[in-house]
Amino acid sequence: MAVLKLLRAPLKYVQGKGALLKLYDETKDLGKSFLFICSNSGYKSCYEKIEKSFEGTNCKLRFEVFGGISSNGEIEKMRKIVREDKIEVVVGIGGGSAIDTAKATAHYEKCPVVVIPTVCATDAPCTGLSVIYNDDGTFDSYLFYPRNPEAVIVDSQVIANAPVKFLVAGMGDALGTYFEARACVRTDAPSLENGGIALSAMALCELCYKTLIKCGYQAKLACENHLVTSAFEAIVEATTYLSGVGADNGGLAVAHSVYNGFTALPECEKTMHGSLVAFGTIAQLIIENAPKEEIKEVMDFCYSVGLPVTLKEVGVTDVTRVRIAAEKACIPGETIHNMAGDVTPDQLYDALLTVDLLGQEYLKK
Ligand SMILES: [Zn+2]
Repeated sequence: MAVLKLLRAPLKYVQGKGALLKLYDETKDLGKSFLFICSNSGYKSCYEKIEKSFEGTNCKLRFEVFGGISSNGEIEKMRKIVREDKIEVVVGIGGGSAIDTAKATAHYEKCPVVVIPTVCATDAPCTGLSVIYNDDGTFDSYLFYPRNPEAVIVDSQVIANAPVKFLVAGMGDALGTYFEARACVRTDAPSLENGGIALSAMALCELCYKTLIKCGYQAKLACENHLVTSAFEAIVEATTYLSGVGADNGGLAVAHSVYNGFTALPECEKTMHGSLVAFGTIAQLIIENAPKEEIKEVMDFCYSVGLPVTLKEVGVTDVTRVRIAAEKACIPGETIHNMAGDVTPDQLYDALLTVDLLGQEYLKK
């Protein structure tokens, strides 16, 4: 039997300036006692609006600033609070880790989960999976859930007040979405949710890319100055919803394997996920021998918003080290193997160095 097409998404997605003031209205059907699992900065940027939104209701709110990584120990701690306080709704507030901790806690305790992203750096808000770490901070596993979050509430002003580097990284992560899904469609590879790729999923991925090209640069300027404009709103949606739901239902290929590969190099430790995904997207286009206009459009975009186009910009100064990353990116199980004709470490190495050469020419202009 052919692979069945599959689409998964959050039940509800709400976005706009001041959206947090409507949090009670948007979540009141889920329960009466709420546990907010917050990153440090997430707590500071959100709790006043949240308390205001619940003013005059009989709901119980408990805020917990969590330990910083989505580890098994942290999840256990939060599960205990859910049981002791008879929590009915778990809310994650912050970047990837606070959200992943909230999703895991809610899943194990069989509560609905609401996600309030405070930055747009990753695909964590809308997906039905978490990255789990050991208590010492090393990678443990991916945890896949049967459902996506009940609600994702994005206050655009909160995102605009966060440092612009997160928005830029989010655009890098979103840049891979269309090209990776396109590669999966070509080989009938399954999506992240292990389903066939629906036309609707592909439409989201395409819209994600078009929105980046149209609004990316202007959104970056807006964020640098904490302004909320239509272009900024479009990019918040592209990096949070279109990229998250698109990647989940569209599949991954070279760009995310390049990210995984470069995590083997300590010199790239500080480079954000989305920056490496953007660099990997260009490498994927080189491997595909994509039309030169397409490569130019992607590189123009990266350059305009400050995403890396050279190895130096991702933290690599000794190019021979790229071999280590290329080997790791091609281990069995990596999404790079979703490519037509497959990709060897040698081919990937050559593509990565080609990106660097093109990028260096770019920076000279
Ligand atoms: Zn990603």
